[in-house]
Amino acid sequence: MRSHSRERKRLIENVQKDFDNTLELLSKLVSEKSVGGSAAIGRCLEIVLEALPPTTRGLKLFEFEGVPNLVARFGNDSEENRLILCGHVDVVPASDGWTTNPFALARKRGRLIGRGTCDMKAGVAAFVAALRGLHLTGKLDDYSIDLVLTGDEETGSQHGAIPLLDDLTVSGRWAVFGEPTRLKVWVGNRGYVWLNIDIKGRGGHSALSHALANPWPAAAAIATALHGLDLGVVDRRFSPPTSTINVTQMAANTGSGGAINVIPDSISIGVDVRILPGQNADVVRKSISSLVAGVIGNELSVKVTALRSAPAFALDENHELTQAALKSVRYIGRTGITGTDLATNDASWFAAKGIASILLGPGNPIEAHAINESVTIRDLADAAMTFAVLPGYLTSTMVGSTRAAT
Ligand SMILES: [Zn+2]
Repeated sequence: MRSHSRERKRLIENVQKDFDNTLELLSKLVSEKSVGGSAAIGRCLEIVLEALPPTTRGLKLFEFEGVPNLVARFGNDSEENRLILCGHVDVVPASDGWTTNPFALARKRGRLIGRGTCDMKAGVAAFVAALRGLHLTGKLDDYSIDLVLTGDEETGSQHGAIPLLDDLTVSGRWAVFGEPTRLKVWVGNRGYVWLNIDIKGRGGHSALSHALANPWPAAAAIATALHGLDLGVVDRRFSPPTSTINVTQMAANTGSGGAINVIPDSISIGVDVRILPGQNADVVRKSISSLVAGVIGNELSVKVTALRSAPAFALDENHELTQAALKSVRYIGRTGITGTDLATNDASWFAAKGIASILLGPGNPIEAHAINESVTIRDLADAAMTFAVLPGYLTSTMVGSTRAAT
């Protein structure tokens, strides 16, 4: 046990000694304007490649319709016990209102400011710092670790996480997503279902409405009823513990461009549903279809279509990954507490493939996508140390492990 704790101390010292390189890496990454579809995404991956330790078992760049993604393999290459450190290097665009250049890392009062610092280039830099620390300590070959960096998380993951998993390029036992959680261990996220409700009536001159079928009253009634619909699932790991339904779009289709004296032929309603574990697109669509059928009159017809969805997931508090993550966070002196993400992220796709997944990273999630986005230097340093000690805690916390936890 004592040797474990001595090794862990040495590992932490090495990560701390190397911290200037971590700051420099983050600075280089922020300097690249890696918004969706840009060539800067590829340059970010090249910057990471240069900073990675040399003992890699394989470096591969995968391109899906022009979007580059990186898979770098380290350690003893056991798939059964592989930990995947997963992140993205794309960022959302920077609008007006910044007080510094969003694509040049600024340092002010303990904070690092720049687009993507929080979401999630600090997380990426902390992953690299952990790998470097493990290498400097001679511990990297004790574990099996993949670094997976994608290039389109902000724009739907269709050319990143989803094909990487479907092609079996990425597989493993555990995955950690370095998204901003203020180093809380987020054990799940909600999923979503997007639906369209198309109501067809009979449009024409509003003066002749007695002979037409105006879809507006039904559309309004459906919108009101949807906001009161209880989908019947409660999960206390989430706050609020229920799914949410929001009508986000309503568009009338008229042949005449929507004059005020024209009754439309049809109305299309866009609905965003945030789902919990145990719910899926089919169940949600059926519930909404039966609500709609109860509201709609005989003179109208209606069609409910699920457009796109992503699954929800939640990991057990007692899972080895949750426990090892909490131990790692506490070891570096932070409060180890769990939580969940109300939005959806790439962890959903990994969890759906049976890979135990958590979110754990530097930065306050409220800063993501914001003007003057920032992360504290302390969060960056603490995340690097947390990721460095995590593989050791995972190995000792593993079910069936013969190694005692220290
Ligand atoms: Zn992100």
